[in-house]
Amino acid sequence: MKLEHYEPEYASYFVRMFLEPVIKTHGVNIDKAFPNLRIWLGAKPPFEANADKNNLWHENYRRPHFTENDGLFYCVIPDLFKGILPPTERIYTLCHEIGHYVHTVYLKDDMEKWAKWAAETGHRLDTEFKNDGGYPRITSHEDFAIDFSKIALGQCKNINYYMKLLKNGIA
Ligand SMILES: [Zn+2]
Repeated sequence: MKLEHYEPEYASYFVRMFLEPVIKTHGVNIDKAFPNLRIWLGAKPPFEANADKNNLWHENYRRPHFTENDGLFYCVIPDLFKGILPPTERIYTLCHEIGHYVHTVYLKDDMEKWAKWAAETGHRLDTEFKNDGGYPRITSHEDFAIDFSKIALGQCKNINYYMKLLKNGIA
């Protein structure tokens, strides 16, 4: 995991809300658990700098997103809501995007693993692809990311499942 660009204030929230609990309380090795993950926190990555020609809200660069590209993974939290959303909200959103990284890397499209996730966390399994007004989504992927992001609030009931996944590569 590498923080490519960040504002110190946000970085300190990220450390306090996510990294410290995961490292200190649960003993996760961050470098091992999040290989090839790069994070832009409060900025657009340079390779997306010219992606705003058509200026649509629906385009990824305008919203927080997770992208996979040739074995590299990016979480981007643009600087749209500075001063509007509190830092805690932005870190919560970042952890949602990190949740998408986690299922992409660890569960992939392995239905056995997804079924185990559903059974262990009490979620309904729904991996059908939907496109809601330009927002492509898969319900179970979103449920996974939402559940995972609650780690940042100290309110994830299924934290043992996620920590096992991060530490052992399998839960
Ligand atoms: Zn999502």
